[in-house]
Amino acid sequence: MATRRLFHRERAQDEILVRGAHVLDPRAELDEERDILIRGGEIAELGASGTISKPAGAEEIDGSGKHAFPGFVDPHVHLRTPGQEYKENIETGTAAAAAGGFCTVIAMPNTDPVVDDASILRSLTEMAGREAHVPVGFLASITRNLAGTELTEMAELRDAGALGFTDDGEPLVSAGMLRKALQYQRLTGGVVALHEEDPALSGNGVMHEGAVSARLGLAGIPSVSESTMVARDAALARYEDARVHFQHVSCVESVEALEAAKARGARVSGEATPHHLTLTDDVVRTLDSRFKMNPPLRSERDRLAIIKALKSGVIDCIATDHAPHAHHEKEAPFELAPMGTTGLETAFSALYTELVLTAELDLETMIERMTSGGALYGLPTPRIAPGEPANLCLVDLDMQFEAGAGGYVSRSANCCFHGRTLQGRVQLTVAAGTIVFREKALSMTSVLSVR
Ligand SMILES: [Zn+2]
Ligand SMILES: [Zn+2]
Repeated sequence: MATRRLFHRERAQDEILVRGAHVLDPRAELDEERDILIRGGEIAELGASGTISKPAGAEEIDGSGKHAFPGFVDPHVHLRTPGQEYKENIETGTAAAAAGGFCTVIAMPNTDPVVDDASILRSLTEMAGREAHVPVGFLASITRNLAGTELTEMAELRDAGALGFTDDGEPLVSAGMLRKALQYQRLTGGVVALHEEDPALSGNGVMHEGAVSARLGLAGIPSVSESTMVARDAALARYEDARVHFQHVSCVESVEALEAAKARGARVSGEATPHHLTLTDDVVRTLDSRFKMNPPLRSERDRLAIIKALKSGVIDCIATDHAPHAHHEKEAPFELAPMGTTGLETAFSALYTELVLTAELDLETMIERMTSGGALYGLPTPRIAPGEPANLCLVDLDMQFEAGAGGYVSRSANCCFHGRTLQGRVQLTVAAGTIVFREKALSMTSVLSVR
Protein backbone atom coordinates (compact mmCIF):
# COMPACT_ATOMS: atom_id res chain seq x y z
CA MET A 1 0.00 0.00 0.00
CA ALA A 2 1.23 3.47 -0.87
CA THR A 3 2.30 5.65 2.06
CA ARG A 4 -0.38 8.10 3.12
CA ARG A 5 0.75 11.73 2.83
CA LEU A 6 -2.40 13.82 3.48
CA PHE A 7 -4.24 13.83 6.78
CA HIS A 8 -7.55 15.30 7.90
CA ARG A 9 -10.54 14.60 10.10
CA GLU A 10 -12.86 12.35 8.14
CA ARG A 11 -16.41 13.61 8.20
CA ALA A 12 -19.70 12.63 6.60
CA GLN A 13 -19.60 13.57 2.95
CA ASP A 14 -22.05 16.22 1.90
CA GLU A 15 -24.51 15.96 -0.95
CA ILE A 16 -24.65 19.39 -2.55
CA LEU A 17 -26.01 20.80 -5.77
CA VAL A 18 -24.34 24.10 -6.67
CA ARG A 19 -26.74 25.64 -9.15
CA GLY A 20 -25.59 27.88 -11.99
CA ALA A 21 -22.14 28.96 -10.84
CA HIS A 22 -19.60 30.28 -13.33
CA VAL A 23 -17.06 27.45 -13.30
CA LEU A 24 -13.49 28.42 -14.12
CA ASP A 25 -11.00 25.55 -14.26
CA PRO A 26 -8.07 26.49 -16.50
CA ARG A 27 -6.84 22.87 -16.74
CA ALA A 28 -10.23 21.59 -17.87
CA GLU A 29 -10.51 24.60 -20.21
CA LEU A 30 -13.82 25.26 -18.54
CA ASP A 31 -15.08 28.84 -18.29
CA GLU A 32 -18.88 28.61 -18.29
CA GLU A 33 -21.98 28.47 -16.13
CA ARG A 34 -22.58 24.99 -14.79
CA ASP A 35 -24.49 22.98 -12.22
CA ILE A 36 -22.19 20.91 -10.01
CA LEU A 37 -23.48 17.90 -8.10
CA ILE A 38 -21.20 16.76 -5.28
CA ARG A 39 -21.92 13.33 -3.84
CA GLY A 40 -19.90 10.55 -2.23
CA GLY A 41 -16.79 12.72 -2.01
CA GLU A 42 -16.59 13.41 -5.70
CA ILE A 43 -17.95 15.62 -8.41
CA ALA A 44 -20.74 13.28 -9.41
CA GLU A 45 -22.20 15.37 -12.21
CA LEU A 46 -21.35 18.53 -14.09
CA GLY A 47 -24.04 19.87 -16.38
CA ALA A 48 -25.31 22.95 -18.15
CA SER A 49 -26.87 25.45 -15.80
CA GLY A 50 -30.35 24.40 -14.68
CA THR A 51 -30.14 20.87 -16.08
CA ILE A 52 -29.23 18.75 -13.04
CA SER A 53 -32.21 17.85 -10.89
CA LYS A 54 -31.67 18.03 -7.16
CA PRO A 55 -31.55 14.59 -5.54
CA ALA A 56 -33.79 14.21 -2.49
CA GLY A 57 -31.73 15.03 0.57
CA ALA A 58 -29.17 17.13 -1.29
CA GLU A 59 -28.67 20.75 -0.31
CA GLU A 60 -29.06 23.21 -3.14
CA ILE A 61 -26.75 26.20 -3.12
CA ASP A 62 -27.46 29.14 -5.37
CA GLY A 63 -24.31 29.73 -7.40
CA SER A 64 -25.73 32.44 -9.63
CA GLY A 65 -23.45 35.44 -9.88
CA LYS A 66 -20.65 33.47 -8.23
CA HIS A 67 -17.54 31.71 -9.52
CA ALA A 68 -16.52 28.15 -8.75
CA PHE A 69 -12.80 27.40 -8.81
CA PRO A 70 -10.84 24.23 -8.09
CA GLY A 71 -9.86 24.29 -4.40
CA PHE A 72 -6.64 26.20 -3.74
CA VAL A 73 -3.51 24.40 -2.54
CA ASP A 74 -1.01 26.14 -0.27
CA PRO A 75 2.39 24.45 -0.25
CA HIS A 76 3.78 26.64 2.54
CA VAL A 77 2.03 27.28 5.86
CA HIS A 78 3.13 27.41 9.49
CA LEU A 79 0.60 25.72 11.76
CA ARG A 80 2.82 26.32 14.83
CA THR A 81 2.16 22.99 16.46
CA PRO A 82 3.79 21.40 18.40
CA GLY A 83 4.95 24.03 20.85
CA GLN A 84 3.50 27.38 19.82
CA GLU A 85 -0.23 26.75 19.97
CA TYR A 86 -0.79 30.26 21.29
CA LYS A 87 -0.08 31.42 17.71
CA GLU A 88 -1.97 28.70 15.79
CA ASN A 89 -2.73 25.01 15.80
CA ILE A 90 -3.88 22.44 13.27
CA GLU A 91 -7.56 23.11 14.00
CA THR A 92 -7.39 26.92 13.73
CA GLY A 93 -4.88 26.97 10.87
CA THR A 94 -6.87 24.61 8.70
CA ALA A 95 -10.09 26.50 9.53
CA ALA A 96 -8.32 29.66 8.27
CA ALA A 97 -7.29 27.72 5.15
CA ALA A 98 -10.89 26.64 4.54
CA ALA A 99 -12.05 30.25 4.94
CA GLY A 100 -9.56 31.24 2.23
CA GLY A 101 -10.78 28.63 -0.28
CA PHE A 102 -7.90 26.21 0.31
CA CYS A 103 -8.61 22.48 0.15
CA THR A 104 -5.06 21.35 0.96
CA VAL A 105 -2.11 22.88 2.84
CA ILE A 106 1.46 21.78 3.47
CA ALA A 107 2.84 22.48 6.95
CA MET A 108 6.43 23.49 7.73
CA PRO A 109 8.51 21.64 10.35
CA ASN A 110 10.11 24.60 12.21
CA THR A 111 8.03 23.97 15.30
CA ASP A 112 9.10 23.38 18.90
CA PRO A 113 10.28 20.64 18.90
CA VAL A 114 11.25 20.60 15.23
CA VAL A 115 9.68 17.85 13.11
CA ASP A 116 13.00 16.06 12.73
CA ASP A 117 11.97 12.66 14.01
CA ALA A 118 9.41 10.11 12.80
CA SER A 119 7.69 9.90 16.18
CA ILE A 120 7.01 13.66 16.17
CA LEU A 121 5.73 13.45 12.60
CA ARG A 122 3.47 10.53 13.49
CA SER A 123 1.95 12.39 16.42
CA LEU A 124 1.24 15.32 14.06
CA THR A 125 -0.38 13.20 11.38
CA GLU A 126 -2.54 11.60 14.07
CA MET A 127 -3.50 15.03 15.38
CA ALA A 128 -4.40 16.15 11.86
CA GLY A 129 -6.57 13.03 11.59
CA ARG A 130 -8.55 14.31 14.58
CA GLU A 131 -8.51 18.08 13.98
CA ALA A 132 -7.74 19.15 10.42
CA HIS A 133 -10.63 20.72 8.51
CA VAL A 134 -8.78 20.33 5.21
CA PRO A 135 -6.17 17.72 4.27
CA VAL A 136 -2.68 18.60 5.52
CA GLY A 137 0.64 17.36 4.22
CA PHE A 138 3.79 17.68 6.32
CA LEU A 139 7.40 18.45 5.51
CA ALA A 140 10.06 17.17 7.89
CA SER A 141 13.30 19.03 8.51
CA ILE A 142 16.44 18.36 6.48
CA THR A 143 18.72 18.66 9.49
CA ARG A 144 18.27 17.87 13.17
CA ASN A 145 16.81 20.80 15.07
CA LEU A 146 17.39 22.95 11.94
CA ALA A 147 20.99 23.21 13.08
CA GLY A 148 22.41 22.48 9.63
CA THR A 149 24.95 19.97 10.92
CA GLU A 150 23.31 16.53 10.99
CA LEU A 151 20.83 15.06 8.52
CA THR A 152 17.52 13.68 9.75
CA GLU A 153 16.54 10.05 9.10
CA MET A 154 15.01 10.96 5.76
CA ALA A 155 13.92 7.45 4.77
CA GLU A 156 12.16 6.89 8.08
CA LEU A 157 10.45 10.29 7.82
CA ARG A 158 9.26 9.48 4.30
CA ASP A 159 7.82 6.20 5.57
CA ALA A 160 6.01 8.15 8.29
CA GLY A 161 4.33 10.33 5.65
CA ALA A 162 6.64 13.31 5.00
CA LEU A 163 5.99 14.91 1.62
CA GLY A 164 9.52 16.24 1.58
CA PHE A 165 12.08 18.14 3.58
CA THR A 166 12.87 21.73 4.47
CA ASP A 167 14.70 23.70 7.14
CA ASP A 168 12.38 26.66 6.41
CA GLY A 169 12.88 29.51 8.82
CA GLU A 170 16.60 28.85 8.49
CA PRO A 171 18.79 28.54 5.42
CA LEU A 172 20.91 25.45 4.91
CA VAL A 173 24.26 27.23 4.95
CA SER A 174 26.53 24.28 4.25
CA ALA A 175 26.62 23.32 0.58
CA GLY A 176 28.16 20.00 1.61
CA MET A 177 25.22 19.23 3.91
CA LEU A 178 22.74 20.09 1.16
CA ARG A 179 24.63 17.90 -1.30
CA LYS A 180 24.39 14.99 1.11
CA ALA A 181 20.65 15.60 1.56
CA LEU A 182 20.17 15.62 -2.20
CA GLN A 183 22.03 12.32 -2.49
CA TYR A 184 19.72 10.78 0.14
CA GLN A 185 16.74 12.24 -1.68
CA ARG A 186 17.59 9.98 -4.61
CA LEU A 187 16.85 7.01 -2.34
CA THR A 188 13.94 8.41 -0.36
CA GLY A 189 12.10 10.55 -2.88
CA GLY A 190 10.29 13.69 -1.68
CA VAL A 191 11.07 17.26 -2.56
CA VAL A 192 13.82 19.25 -0.84
CA ALA A 193 12.47 22.77 -0.30
CA LEU A 194 14.80 25.63 0.53
CA HIS A 195 14.52 28.93 2.39
CA GLU A 196 17.36 30.76 0.71
CA GLU A 197 19.39 33.28 2.60
CA ASP A 198 23.06 33.78 3.38
CA PRO A 199 23.23 34.77 7.06
CA ALA A 200 26.55 36.51 6.45
CA LEU A 201 24.78 38.83 4.02
CA SER A 202 21.45 39.15 5.89
CA GLY A 203 23.30 40.08 9.08
CA ASN A 204 20.91 41.70 11.51
CA GLY A 205 18.78 43.14 8.72
CA VAL A 206 15.10 43.72 9.37
CA MET A 207 13.86 44.86 5.95
CA HIS A 208 14.94 45.02 2.29
CA GLU A 209 18.24 46.82 1.76
CA GLY A 210 17.55 49.77 -0.49
CA ALA A 211 16.54 53.42 -0.56
CA VAL A 212 13.78 52.96 2.03
CA SER A 213 15.99 51.17 4.57
CA ALA A 214 18.63 53.87 4.09
CA ARG A 215 16.09 56.61 4.73
CA LEU A 216 14.65 54.84 7.78
CA GLY A 217 18.10 54.02 9.11
CA LEU A 218 17.17 50.34 9.44
CA ALA A 219 19.57 47.47 8.77
CA GLY A 220 18.83 45.90 5.39
CA ILE A 221 18.73 42.39 3.96
CA PRO A 222 20.13 42.65 0.43
CA SER A 223 18.59 40.71 -2.46
CA VAL A 224 21.92 38.96 -3.04
CA SER A 225 21.53 37.28 0.34
CA GLU A 226 18.80 35.22 -1.34
CA SER A 227 19.85 35.10 -4.97
CA THR A 228 23.42 33.90 -4.43
CA MET A 229 22.05 30.92 -2.49
CA VAL A 230 19.40 30.20 -5.15
CA ALA A 231 22.16 30.16 -7.78
CA ARG A 232 24.41 27.93 -5.66
CA ASP A 233 21.69 25.43 -4.81
CA ALA A 234 20.25 25.34 -8.33
CA ALA A 235 23.75 24.33 -9.46
CA LEU A 236 23.84 21.62 -6.79
CA ALA A 237 20.38 20.40 -7.80
CA ARG A 238 21.56 20.07 -11.36
CA TYR A 239 24.83 18.41 -10.39
CA GLU A 240 23.04 15.80 -8.26
CA ASP A 241 20.01 15.64 -10.58
CA ALA A 242 17.90 16.30 -7.49
CA ARG A 243 14.41 17.76 -7.11
CA VAL A 244 14.63 21.14 -5.37
CA HIS A 245 11.90 23.68 -4.66
CA PHE A 246 12.74 27.32 -3.86
CA GLN A 247 10.46 28.83 -1.26
CA HIS A 248 9.19 32.43 -1.24
CA VAL A 249 11.26 33.77 -4.16
CA SER A 250 11.36 37.51 -3.58
CA CYS A 251 13.73 39.31 -5.95
CA VAL A 252 14.64 39.73 -9.59
CA GLU A 253 18.09 38.16 -9.21
CA SER A 254 16.58 34.96 -7.74
CA VAL A 255 14.10 34.83 -10.63
CA GLU A 256 17.01 35.08 -13.06
CA ALA A 257 18.89 32.28 -11.30
CA LEU A 258 15.79 30.07 -11.29
CA GLU A 259 15.08 30.78 -14.94
CA ALA A 260 18.67 29.98 -15.94
CA ALA A 261 18.62 26.71 -13.95
CA LYS A 262 15.36 25.63 -15.56
CA ALA A 263 16.72 26.46 -19.00
CA ARG A 264 19.66 24.12 -18.30
CA GLY A 265 17.30 21.32 -17.33
CA ALA A 266 17.63 21.41 -13.54
CA ARG A 267 14.65 19.85 -11.75
CA VAL A 268 13.84 23.00 -9.81
CA SER A 269 10.64 24.91 -9.04
CA GLY A 270 9.71 28.08 -7.22
CA GLU A 271 6.90 29.71 -5.31
CA ALA A 272 5.91 33.34 -4.68
CA THR A 273 3.77 34.82 -1.93
CA PRO A 274 0.77 37.15 -2.24
CA HIS A 275 2.65 39.80 -0.21
CA HIS A 276 5.71 39.79 -2.46
CA LEU A 277 3.40 39.95 -5.49
CA THR A 278 1.40 42.93 -4.24
CA LEU A 279 3.49 45.01 -1.79
CA THR A 280 6.89 46.70 -1.77
CA ASP A 281 9.24 47.99 0.91
CA ASP A 282 7.56 51.37 0.50
CA VAL A 283 4.89 50.29 3.04
CA VAL A 284 7.60 49.73 5.67
CA ARG A 285 7.76 53.53 6.04
CA THR A 286 4.75 53.12 8.35
CA LEU A 287 6.94 50.97 10.63
CA ASP A 288 3.93 48.70 11.04
CA SER A 289 5.37 45.33 12.09
CA ARG A 290 2.74 43.54 10.00
CA PHE A 291 5.01 44.42 7.08
CA LYS A 292 7.98 42.67 8.60
CA MET A 293 8.61 39.26 7.07
CA ASN A 294 11.43 37.10 5.77
CA PRO A 295 12.28 37.41 2.95
CA PRO A 296 11.38 41.09 3.24
CA LEU A 297 9.10 43.07 0.95
CA ARG A 298 11.37 44.29 -1.82
CA SER A 299 11.37 46.96 -4.54
CA GLU A 300 8.81 47.59 -7.28
CA ARG A 301 11.30 46.22 -9.79
CA ASP A 302 11.43 42.95 -7.83
CA ARG A 303 7.65 42.80 -7.52
CA LEU A 304 7.21 43.22 -11.28
CA ALA A 305 9.83 40.54 -11.98
CA ILE A 306 7.99 38.08 -9.74
CA ILE A 307 4.68 38.77 -11.47
CA LYS A 308 6.33 38.26 -14.84
CA ALA A 309 7.90 34.99 -13.65
CA LEU A 310 4.57 33.80 -12.28
CA LYS A 311 2.96 34.47 -15.65
CA SER A 312 5.67 32.72 -17.65
CA GLY A 313 5.80 29.73 -15.29
CA VAL A 314 9.38 30.35 -14.14
CA ILE A 315 7.67 30.62 -10.74
CA ASP A 316 5.36 27.62 -10.57
CA CYS A 317 2.89 28.43 -7.85
CA ILE A 318 1.60 30.78 -5.18
CA ALA A 319 2.27 29.99 -1.51
CA THR A 320 1.14 32.14 1.40
CA ASP A 321 3.95 31.40 3.90
CA HIS A 322 1.14 31.89 6.46
CA ALA A 323 3.18 32.76 9.56
CA PRO A 324 1.02 33.53 12.61
CA HIS A 325 2.41 35.50 15.55
CA ALA A 326 0.67 36.60 18.73
CA HIS A 327 -0.35 40.23 19.22
CA HIS A 328 2.07 40.75 22.11
CA GLU A 329 4.95 39.59 19.89
CA LYS A 330 4.10 41.75 16.88
CA GLU A 331 3.39 44.74 19.11
CA ALA A 332 7.12 45.23 19.60
CA PRO A 333 9.01 48.00 17.75
CA PHE A 334 9.68 47.14 14.08
CA GLU A 335 13.33 46.21 14.67
CA LEU A 336 12.43 43.72 17.41
CA ALA A 337 9.15 42.24 16.14
CA PRO A 338 9.23 38.66 14.78
CA MET A 339 9.12 38.14 11.02
CA GLY A 340 6.00 36.83 9.30
CA THR A 341 2.50 37.59 8.11
CA THR A 342 -0.63 35.49 8.08
CA GLY A 343 -2.07 34.97 4.62
CA LEU A 344 -4.51 32.09 4.23
CA GLU A 345 -7.70 34.14 4.61
CA THR A 346 -6.64 37.01 2.35
CA ALA A 347 -4.57 35.33 -0.39
CA PHE A 348 -7.29 35.09 -2.99
CA SER A 349 -8.84 38.50 -2.31
CA ALA A 350 -5.51 40.33 -2.13
CA LEU A 351 -4.28 38.86 -5.41
CA TYR A 352 -7.62 39.36 -7.14
CA THR A 353 -7.85 42.98 -5.98
CA GLU A 354 -4.24 44.01 -6.49
CA LEU A 355 -3.32 42.01 -9.61
CA VAL A 356 -6.40 40.83 -11.52
CA LEU A 357 -8.55 43.95 -11.16
CA THR A 358 -5.52 46.06 -12.10
CA ALA A 359 -4.95 43.84 -15.18
CA GLU A 360 -1.43 42.85 -14.05
CA LEU A 361 -2.44 39.17 -14.05
CA ASP A 362 -5.34 37.30 -15.65
CA LEU A 363 -7.72 35.32 -13.49
CA GLU A 364 -7.03 32.00 -15.26
CA THR A 365 -3.31 32.18 -14.52
CA MET A 366 -3.96 33.21 -10.95
CA ILE A 367 -6.25 30.21 -10.40
CA GLU A 368 -3.77 27.88 -12.09
CA ARG A 369 -0.95 29.06 -9.82
CA MET A 370 -3.09 28.92 -6.68
CA THR A 371 -3.91 25.27 -7.36
CA SER A 372 -0.58 23.93 -8.64
CA GLY A 373 1.49 23.89 -5.43
CA GLY A 374 0.53 20.36 -4.37
CA ALA A 375 1.54 18.76 -7.65
CA LEU A 376 5.11 19.96 -7.04
CA TYR A 377 5.11 17.62 -4.02
CA GLY A 378 3.46 14.79 -5.91
CA LEU A 379 -0.11 15.47 -4.78
CA PRO A 380 -3.06 15.38 -7.18
CA THR A 381 -4.24 18.74 -8.51
CA PRO A 382 -7.86 19.71 -7.73
CA ARG A 383 -10.06 19.78 -10.82
CA ILE A 384 -13.69 20.46 -11.49
CA ALA A 385 -14.54 17.48 -13.67
CA PRO A 386 -16.87 14.48 -13.25
CA GLY A 387 -15.32 11.71 -11.19
CA GLU A 388 -12.70 13.98 -9.59
CA PRO A 389 -12.52 14.30 -5.78
CA ALA A 390 -14.73 17.20 -4.68
CA ASN A 391 -12.32 20.04 -3.90
CA LEU A 392 -13.61 23.46 -4.87
CA CYS A 393 -14.53 26.90 -3.66
CA LEU A 394 -17.32 29.30 -4.51
CA VAL A 395 -16.35 32.96 -4.69
CA ASP A 396 -18.29 36.21 -5.03
CA LEU A 397 -15.99 38.33 -7.21
CA ASP A 398 -18.02 41.48 -6.65
CA MET A 399 -18.14 41.46 -2.88
CA GLN A 400 -15.94 44.05 -1.18
CA PHE A 401 -14.86 43.88 2.43
CA GLU A 402 -12.30 45.29 4.81
CA ALA A 403 -9.64 42.72 5.65
CA GLY A 404 -9.85 41.74 9.29
CA ALA A 405 -12.89 43.90 10.05
CA GLY A 406 -14.82 40.88 11.29
CA GLY A 407 -11.78 39.32 12.95
CA TYR A 408 -9.84 36.35 11.64
CA VAL A 409 -10.45 32.63 11.72
CA SER A 410 -6.74 32.15 12.35
CA ARG A 411 -5.69 32.41 15.99
CA SER A 412 -3.39 35.29 14.99
CA ALA A 413 -4.14 38.65 13.39
CA ASN A 414 -0.75 39.70 12.01
CA CYS A 415 -2.00 40.05 8.44
CA CYS A 416 -0.15 42.48 6.17
CA PHE A 417 -3.40 43.23 4.31
CA HIS A 418 -5.22 44.17 7.51
CA GLY A 419 -7.55 47.13 7.05
CA ARG A 420 -7.37 47.14 3.25
CA THR A 421 -10.51 47.12 1.16
CA LEU A 422 -10.38 43.89 -0.82
CA GLN A 423 -12.67 42.52 -3.48
CA GLY A 424 -13.62 38.90 -4.16
CA ARG A 425 -14.68 36.84 -1.19
CA VAL A 426 -14.76 33.10 -0.67
CA GLN A 427 -18.31 31.99 0.12
CA LEU A 428 -18.00 28.24 0.35
CA THR A 429 -15.17 25.71 0.43
CA VAL A 430 -15.52 21.99 -0.19
CA ALA A 431 -12.51 19.84 0.69
CA ALA A 432 -12.42 16.07 0.21
CA GLY A 433 -16.19 16.03 -0.36
CA THR A 434 -17.19 17.95 2.77
CA ILE A 435 -18.27 21.57 3.24
CA VAL A 436 -15.47 22.95 5.41
CA PHE A 437 -16.33 26.64 5.20
CA ARG A 438 -19.48 28.61 4.54
CA GLU A 439 -19.86 32.38 4.64
CA LYS A 440 -22.67 33.38 6.99
CA ALA A 441 -24.67 35.21 4.32
CA LEU A 442 -24.51 32.16 2.06
CA SER A 443 -25.85 29.83 4.73
CA MET A 444 -28.90 32.10 5.03
CA THR A 445 -29.67 32.13 1.30
CA SER A 446 -29.06 28.41 1.06
CA VAL A 447 -31.41 27.72 3.95
CA LEU A 448 -34.05 29.74 2.10
CA SER A 449 -33.45 27.91 -1.16
CA VAL A 450 -33.67 24.53 0.56
CA ARG A 451 -37.12 25.34 1.92
ZN1 LIG B 1 11.12 30.85 4.97
ZN1 LIG C 1 7.91 29.84 5.95
